[in-house]
Amino acid sequence: MVNVKITDELSLTDDKFLMIAGPCSVEDEEQIVGVAKELKKTGVNVLRGGAFKPRTCPDSFQGLGEDGLKLLSRARDATGMAIITEVMDVEDLPLIEEYADIIQIGSRNSQNFSLLKKVSKQKKPVLLKRGFGNTVDELISSSRYLSMNGNHNIMFSERGIRTFEQSTRFTLDISAIPVLHEKTEYPVIIDPSHPAGVNRYVEPLAMGGAAAGADGLMIEVHPEPSKALSDAAQQLTVQQFNDLYGKVQKIVGILGKTMI
Ligand code: PEP
Ligand code: MN
Repeated sequence: MVNVKITDELSLTDDKFLMIAGPCSVEDEEQIVGVAKELKKTGVNVLRGGAFKPRTCPDSFQGLGEDGLKLLSRARDATGMAIITEVMDVEDLPLIEEYADIIQIGSRNSQNFSLLKKVSKQKKPVLLKRGFGNTVDELISSSRYLSMNGNHNIMFSERGIRTFEQSTRFTLDISAIPVLHEKTEYPVIIDPSHPAGVNRYVEPLAMGGAAAGADGLMIEVHPEPSKALSDAAQQLTVQQFNDLYGKVQKIVGILGKTMI
């Protein structure tokens, strides 16, 4: 596996397991800085939070844009955590590059080749989410756009695919983990929140991903999930996240890795 350098202090290597957590969307300062401090206490080093949100309906909350990025930067200053946030559009890339430690490509942009080509020209690590209608081979092809200018600081994220199954929001494809490990050198981060769709399914999917050999997890956590402006049903409370963290830590320990 390639070593993914996130910051000077933080690298994802074979013997490590990366936990990324935070709200679906950045909503206000109290929300993002508050939850960041709680997560840091638990041991999380990378904070997620969307500022530019890819919403299915145009009348849904679209994110705070640059104001959201500024709030993420305050959360970084307050905790020392690294920041991951999504770039939705080529024109926002300079701004995202300025604020983010890891650039996230969302599921809906996984085959936006012009965006991938632009992102390939910058040096920050990239989390490439799998398009929910894409095969593993298509995901790998997308990663080749990202690495075309020599940036191999790439992580995959499996976040569920569309199948005939309607009882969860998406179907988490656990088998993508060994297949990606066999075919590529990049780490695989499981996002159990989006396939779960509801908070009670997040923990089993997270544990399944860890046990199947994922290199990390990205989990949505909100200080008050019922009030969240996006993905309210699937976000965990800090307490729920802390319980999950303890269980995942045990699985990861059995596999001889330590949580970062
Ligand atoms: C997200 O992680 O914020 C997100 C929008 O997920 P996805 O792109 O996988 O739907
Ligand atoms: Mn979300």
